[in-house]
Amino acid sequence: TGTPKEEIKRIADQFAFTGELVSCGPCGSGHINETYMLRYRIGEMGSIKVILQKINREIFQKPEELMENIAGVTGHLKKKVLQKSGDPEREVLNLIPTKEGKAFLTDENGECWRAYIFITDAVSYDLAEKPEDFYESAVAFGKFQEMLADYPAETLHETIKDFHDTKKRFQTLKNAIEKDSCHRAASVKEEIAFALQHEYLANVFGELLAKGEVPLRVTHNDTKLNNVMIDLETGKGICVVDLDTVMPGLAMNDFGDSIRFGASTALEDEKDLSKVSCDMELYEIYVKGFLESCGDKLSAKEIEMLPMGAKVMTYECGIRFLTDYLEGDHYFKIDREEHNLDRCRTQFKLVADIEQKWDTMQTIVKKYQK
Ligand code: ATP
Ligand code: MG
Ligand code: MG
Repeated sequence: TGTPKEEIKRIADQFAFTGELVSCGPCGSGHINETYMLRYRIGEMGSIKVILQKINREIFQKPEELMENIAGVTGHLKKKVLQKSGDPEREVLNLIPTKEGKAFLTDENGECWRAYIFITDAVSYDLAEKPEDFYESAVAFGKFQEMLADYPAETLHETIKDFHDTKKRFQTLKNAIEKDSCHRAASVKEEIAFALQHEYLANVFGELLAKGEVPLRVTHNDTKLNNVMIDLETGKGICVVDLDTVMPGLAMNDFGDSIRFGASTALEDEKDLSKVSCDMELYEIYVKGFLESCGDKLSAKEIEMLPMGAKVMTYECGIRFLTDYLEGDHYFKIDREEHNLDRCRTQFKLVADIEQKWDTMQTIVKKYQK
């Protein structure tokens, strides 16, 4: 897989890069887009690195809307970074336009490409090497929320429709149970029962939003550790990347999804459920980083609902795995039979664990509430 070098060079030629291309190669470990790092020489001494990315058109059908979101949000972030005398080339993604002045390029095959200034002297980690890395991701996503608190979230496009509409996801599960197209329902009675017993989790946020008790926010929706660039020298989280899934959403969901995978003591597909729990030390680290950097921008209700975000996101993920298992595994890639069922079980185990630790989780949030 990947795009041949010659083609990348032809694509790169159509962007407003300066200098002479001296090298290009794959970059990072993203699973969605194709990401390349290109180096250009400028004059005798200098060189500049850029990122060239092919957007995944299977997942994102409306690249113009997606790019409109990214241009809007990065433009806003840049103003904020400048106001705080930060580094506008390292603390926010900078789109480099095409030579025609467009935000992205559509090639003759209909593929879409975009370019960013490369964030220098920084790395992104797939796995936390130390708790501080998780803390730094919390700070980075908290700052992201803080700087975008005055952005009109409702003007953003929904790049993946109904992404965290948990109620719809619940209905899809119910349909899958009823249809039982693969005759698997009888073998997963326990999981189905768990999902149905917890139906309230599918409704709680939709109701709060409908009643106006929580606001729509700019959300990132892929708050993984490797979507934060960490400064090589200071170890600090400097910039949030991967803005494809920026959408209107709820602050609690971004927070909750970080907890779901970042504070879990086991992998998402661990078979031994005794290894699966929500680590309260990691949870506290994330709460601390997140609230320290955005606490005053969130409402009291949003802060109170942060633990609920962890529960809802974990439940939602569990019912999606269960649905896919019932429907014959056509959405999530599987490496073994029952892979999706194993994944569903880890998520439901986490939900149960979160329920047991509920008081602790709320107390921790109160501790860091300003
Ligand atoms: P995912 O699988 O998380 O959805 P993706 O395929 O959407 O990833 P990105 O996260 O945008 O791709 O980029 C992949 C990796 O490339 C990032 O994790 C980061 O390490 C690196 N990267 C992306 N943009 C930049 C940049 N502007 N400067 C430096 N590195 C970058
Ligand atoms: Mg990424
Ligand atoms: Mg991505």
